[in-house]
Amino acid sequence: MGVYNRAPLAFERGRGARLFSTDGDVYLDCVAGIATDGLGHAHPVLVEALKTQGEKLWHVSNIYRIPEQEELADKLCAHSFADVVFFTNSGTEAIECALKTARKYHTANGQPERTEIFGFDGSFHGRSYAAVNASGNPSYVEGFGPRLPGYSQLTFGDHDALKAAIALPTTAAIIVEPVQGEGGARSIPEHCLVSLRSLCDEHGVLLIYDEVQCGMGRTGKLFAYEWAPGGEPHIMAVAKALGGGFPVGACLATTEAAKGMTVGVHGSTFGGNPLAMAVGKAAFDTINTPEILDNVKTVAGYFVQQLNGLKDRFPDVIVDIRGKGFLIGIKLIPNNREFMVLARDEKLLVAGGGDNCVRLLPPLNLTIEEASEAIAKLEKACEAARSKLAAA
Ligand code: PLP
Repeated sequence: MGVYNRAPLAFERGRGARLFSTDGDVYLDCVAGIATDGLGHAHPVLVEALKTQGEKLWHVSNIYRIPEQEELADKLCAHSFADVVFFTNSGTEAIECALKTARKYHTANGQPERTEIFGFDGSFHGRSYAAVNASGNPSYVEGFGPRLPGYSQLTFGDHDALKAAIALPTTAAIIVEPVQGEGGARSIPEHCLVSLRSLCDEHGVLLIYDEVQCGMGRTGKLFAYEWAPGGEPHIMAVAKALGGGFPVGACLATTEAAKGMTVGVHGSTFGGNPLAMAVGKAAFDTINTPEILDNVKTVAGYFVQQLNGLKDRFPDVIVDIRGKGFLIGIKLIPNNREFMVLARDEKLLVAGGGDNCVRLLPPLNLTIEEASEAIAKLEKACEAARSKLAAA
């Protein structure tokens, strides 16, 4: 189906942060499958895990115990707020599970009337019916029939509206990305996450974080909420870098928040299969190391400093640098889609984003040298953008 706006470009192989196109060019990849190839392309540890498990066992049904699944769940719980995990094949399915978990919790508590889910403008949670209704992009629900009841969006930064929503007796949950991805790398201040959690607790409302894009090391901590001690969620969706490029997602929750998720109420054929879990375990163990997490912090610091330098030199092109860690947004004056083409002309891949941003979402193991190469390419793209603006 013609649902993708594809660039006229295809790749035949990748290695680290390099992508080799079918027409013989080499690109520096600061898209990484939109924050999915967290360890770059063809990481030897992931390749080995895939090959080894591929020769043993790919798939068995969830009607049996799956030891690899239990191991990855244990790792996720040992390093997060969560006690239990449900595995999926995508971020959308992890969100779907999070929303269902929240509503079931209230039913289990004898309050089935608590069904309202509040999200935020500019948010993106995926493309299933529930996910598009929870997301803050009206164009994704248009033409698909009536909106699902029980989903509303709040304006980012409107604290009064947020407080009023949380206080409603029908509210089930608040869903938020600690750092918005598709919305244009908008980071929620840490103290706001802490107040959000305490407001939710005060009113018996569940707090759901969507860390599909900003989790798994992208901000320089394993999970973005760790930057806000006291601001952890009750339920959280992760995916993307969790499988390092293999489709894996997960919905994490506390035992209490997941108390409605009893035998038979939810499930998945492929979710948590041994092959996905073997790669997920390898990705988790490799990402959750000081080497990778410190690298993100150090190289992100360099990026922000250099990008602000570019902003000062090209105020006619760049208006803002935002985001957190390796989820960096560059807000532009020229059209972001056109700027992506100019970057591509320099053999640099960047992603688009809301609010006329381009996003840099490089692999978490990007080196300082590669970051400096990306800056040099961005500088050339800025020069080209300036010439285009002058000629217009
Ligand atoms: N949530 C966020 C924050 C995302 O960025 C995405 C995908 O970009 C999703 C959910 C949906 O994930 P998936 O495309 O794996 O279904």
